[in-house]
Amino acid sequence: MAKPKILISDNLDQDGVDILKASGLFEIDYRKKTSREELEAVIPEVEGLIIRSASKVDKALIEKASKLKVVIRAGVGVDNIDIPACSQKGIVVMNAPAGNSISTAEQAIALMFALARKVPQAHASMKDKKWEKSKFQGSQLTGKTLGVIGLGRIGKEVVKRGKGLQMQVLGFDPYIPSEHLTSLEIDLVPIDTILKQADFITVHTPLTDATRGLVNEKNLSLLKPGVRLINCARGGIYDEAAIAKGVKEGIIGGAGLDVFVEEPLPATSPLYDHEDIVLTPHLGASTDEAQIEVAKETAESMVAYFKNGVARNSLNFPTIDPTSMDALAPWFELCEQVGSFVGQVMKSPIKDIEISYRGGFTELNLNPLEIALTKGLLSVAMGDEVNLVNAPLLAKERSMRVTARKVEKTEKEVSILEMTVYDEKERLSLKAAVGATGGVITELNGNAIKLKPEGYLLYVLNTDTPGVVGKLGTLLGEHNINISSMELSRGKKGGEARTFLGLDDEISKSLLETIRQKEFIVEARFIKI
Ligand code: NAD
Repeated sequence: MAKPKILISDNLDQDGVDILKASGLFEIDYRKKTSREELEAVIPEVEGLIIRSASKVDKALIEKASKLKVVIRAGVGVDNIDIPACSQKGIVVMNAPAGNSISTAEQAIALMFALARKVPQAHASMKDKKWEKSKFQGSQLTGKTLGVIGLGRIGKEVVKRGKGLQMQVLGFDPYIPSEHLTSLEIDLVPIDTILKQADFITVHTPLTDATRGLVNEKNLSLLKPGVRLINCARGGIYDEAAIAKGVKEGIIGGAGLDVFVEEPLPATSPLYDHEDIVLTPHLGASTDEAQIEVAKETAESMVAYFKNGVARNSLNFPTIDPTSMDALAPWFELCEQVGSFVGQVMKSPIKDIEISYRGGFTELNLNPLEIALTKGLLSVAMGDEVNLVNAPLLAKERSMRVTARKVEKTEKEVSILEMTVYDEKERLSLKAAVGATGGVITELNGNAIKLKPEGYLLYVLNTDTPGVVGKLGTLLGEHNINISSMELSRGKKGGEARTFLGLDDEISKSLLETIRQKEFIVEARFIKI
């Protein structure tokens, strides 16, 4: 039988090509550089495609790719791949995100040294033929406090290096169970402790609603005076204007940035204005070694896919039987929404999810619903990096146990999803169903409710005393926020009640903080689905 043809259309390190060759599985066409015409001419025969940033896998190319099963981007960014079009054609899309972790961690450390010892500034001064010895007095790293926000692949590598430099390392990652982080031997602390105590802060998270503007104009005053900030993750995690303001006003001692809201950084940006803001043009992965690691990771993923059907780091949907897909579509959406809802309501990492399906839909293969639920849950922490293919694996890595069972059909055959979720401290149970107007949560902790888990919601756990809703309504009204719906879920009279207000607009962090300060509020969260 003919071997599947693999096209490597952009430059890939030889180590990767060797892994593909050694597998003996493929006919390999390695071109280093491929023009669009060549790509279009050869694609109909290709079953596996490896690209970097130069080749464009767009709709027009996919239409010609009649045998294509898998596209792998040797690297992280997949802007040059039309993922929905690939999914539609059942083409699996993967990337290789792990190979550049060490290089990116080293870039963060490089920026930390650059800030501490003012290397770029001193270099620029000397190239100007000056000898300004006293101007560039720096500070030592040993003994200083390093705050690492996000303890995934790169964050962990930074922690090791910070400890190697004899810094006191503080870490924050609310989505990884603490027992998975004990081997790091660092203090896991709330984020505010990092903001208040760290001499250096480095972020290694995706850009999500929770991480966007993590340092912003409003919380600048929380920071330890003279703190130095490093971002080798995603532009926008620190608000760029706030950094410029903080450095100008002397609150921030310096910032080392490798990533920007807009890349390339536009010609006008406040970040150019200060000597103590050190900039590099997204160089995290730009080392020879990272390119070798990425090439190996890419080749190994290709081999695993053709050998065992395993899609590692896949970025698109698994293939699901089209007839079930039709019936499951509204459930799919509901499960993702419920997952995101639960992920935002619960306080600490989720440990266990127990699901029961009842009613008519138990005749179908419901396994994809668990995946959709898990995806919704993880997306709170991981944003776009979690998808239906990688969600189960990521849940397993985080020791999140998902169990599901089907309960025999009820007489009325109404389909119901029941679930109980446990985190480290508490338990939440709910029931949900798909009705004529879409998905609804029908019960929460044993109390009837009719809540659509969508849009903007203000969730408050409050003491069950008269006037709470009125006070909340007035407060929101004063901030021009319109309430579109309201649902109450309460246990016994006079105890605690859960109130969900549907809102027309997002509410600001400061308004949420004001609500939290009210004496009748036990807990308040803004939920965005
Ligand atoms: P990862 O998925 O392994 O780790 C990210 C971690 O962030 C996870 O553990 C997650 O739980 C945590 N997290 C999510 N939301 C959080 C929050 N609100 N507070 C604290 N922690 C939170 O990813 P990674 O491979 O370590 O990459 C980290 C970042 O670096 C990503 O944004 C990635 O795109 C970026 N990156 C940049 C470069 C570069 O060239 N500069 C290269 C590679 C990766």
